[in-house]
Amino acid sequence: MKIHNYSAGPCILPQEVFKKSSEAILDFNGMGLSLLEISHRSKDFVAVIEEARALVLELLNLQGKGYQALFLHGGASLEFLMVPYNLMKENGKAAYLDTGTWASGAIKEAKHFGETIIVASSKEDNYSYIPKDYVIPSDANYFHCTSNNTIYGTQMKSFPTIDLPLVCDMSSDIFSRTLDFSKFDLIYAGAQKNMGPAGATLVVVKEEILGKTGRYIPSMLDYQQHILKESMYNTPPVFPIYASLLTLQWLKAQGGIATIEKVNEAKAALLYNEIDRNPLFTGKAQKEDRSIMNATFVLNDESHTGIFDAIWKSAGISGLTGYRTVGGYRASMYNALPLESVQVLVDCMKELESKI
Ligand SMILES: *Cc1c(COP(=O)(O)O)cnc(C)c1O
Repeated sequence: MKIHNYSAGPCILPQEVFKKSSEAILDFNGMGLSLLEISHRSKDFVAVIEEARALVLELLNLQGKGYQALFLHGGASLEFLMVPYNLMKENGKAAYLDTGTWASGAIKEAKHFGETIIVASSKEDNYSYIPKDYVIPSDANYFHCTSNNTIYGTQMKSFPTIDLPLVCDMSSDIFSRTLDFSKFDLIYAGAQKNMGPAGATLVVVKEEILGKTGRYIPSMLDYQQHILKESMYNTPPVFPIYASLLTLQWLKAQGGIATIEKVNEAKAALLYNEIDRNPLFTGKAQKEDRSIMNATFVLNDESHTGIFDAIWKSAGISGLTGYRTVGGYRASMYNALPLESVQVLVDCMKELESKI
């Protein structure tokens, strides 16, 4: 049976990425050697990381604009720490928008470095919306936001225009929609939501914002060191980077972000229309802030849970259960999830309606 994978992360990737990356484990580039047993400094692997770094900037339309793309270790969670390390001045301050668990994880780390101002939070409403009216102090060293709140199913549709560095955790919607990426000074994303396997973290940073804090930064946490060493300060996560390259190549072959965005919008519209139409379900996030990547919804009558779960499980749907602290359902519709899979879910929701 075909499985429709709605997992929030690690998550679905294009089938051809699984196929090609597994072939490279056995024989990389026809070398008779595995990708996993060659030097990361060999010309074959250097070509991989160079192409991956260039393709990131190409897809985001950031080539020649003073940005560097890095593939680091530690996940988005380590970036929560690296961002203030590299951007908050000694005795400086930073501004954060609190839109969920991941945003507050970033705030928690920043607090150890200096004054951390939460400009707005939707916590009191269980993060069901994105705060809109807030003031960012002009003397902050940077402003940090989370473009897509994976757990709550909300997504920022616009970003403030500010004179300070704009930093964004795009872990769960990078490469899913067109944005003016040059508005951002630092973007980071754990690979495992829309780009590749867990184990690599993408950082895209405008070089001119670095080197201004006055504090000592341990080398492994210093973006400038990683730039200087061309993203190979130490042994990089070779397999996640190679699989990420394959995903980026797949994305380019689809027509790039603009093309995949249309598909993503069609998928989200199909599901949200059913959530709104079907009297048995209610969406969790405020409509105007709904994420096109992660849709969260609940059954109005919890006593239908058993029968609904049996329907979608028997249709081959996997990974639909909501985050442990939120409950309900979460359908993660990352780039590689086809429209047909969303239709299968919608049909399950209709089937429940017909059985009740
Ligand atoms: C998953 C996720 C994270 C955490 O990523 P790790 O790579 O596991 O550290 C951070 N931010 C957002 C928005 C996420 O979706």
